[in-house]
Amino acid sequence: MVKAVFPGSFDPIHYGHIDIALRAAQLFDEVIVAVYDRPLKNLIFSPEERITLVEEAFRDYPNIHVMGYSGLTVDFCHQVGAQVIVRGLRVFSDFENEFRMALANHRLAPDIEMVMLITNEEHTFLSSTTVREIASLGGDVTTMVPPHVDKALKACFARMSQTQQMSHLKSLRD
Ligand code: ADP
Repeated sequence: MVKAVFPGSFDPIHYGHIDIALRAAQLFDEVIVAVYDRPLKNLIFSPEERITLVEEAFRDYPNIHVMGYSGLTVDFCHQVGAQVIVRGLRVFSDFENEFRMALANHRLAPDIEMVMLITNEEHTFLSSTTVREIASLGGDVTTMVPPHVDKALKACFARMSQTQQMSHLKSLRD
């Protein structure tokens, strides 16, 4: 049985992520979508909120499970008995980052393989940053995220605009 971990911040999950997880679920017996609790990024959703949004996205897929984690991804893989880390690639800059991360992970844990899936062309431009920026300005993200995520984004930005917390959004990166 081959178990794969698909790690990320998922702030929030969008159709590009969902496509990668569903394709991985056809290649591997089990996929754990692993929500990293504290990446070096400004986040709009808490770890619990991000996990709930991811869980809802994969509710109908019995071989996809969702877990939160902290620390090194390779340590998490060992804890859950996963042999593979899945990542998605969109543009050349993704490749450079993933290439470096794959070599570092391989140094730390030679027993774990990294598998990169190329994005579906309709999702090439899609990132959590793009989704957050459009949603924060009241734009329509319904072709980019599932309805429950759209709802959560609207609630989040309504809350932020009431408490004037929007300024830190400018420095967000994906
Ligand atoms: P991270 O914080 O690790 O960069 P993200 O939540 O941004 O995590 O993304 C998780 C994974 O999903 C990464 O491998 C990323 O490259 C991939 N990904 C993000 N957006 C897309 C997309 N539009 N198509 C394919 N893969 C994507």
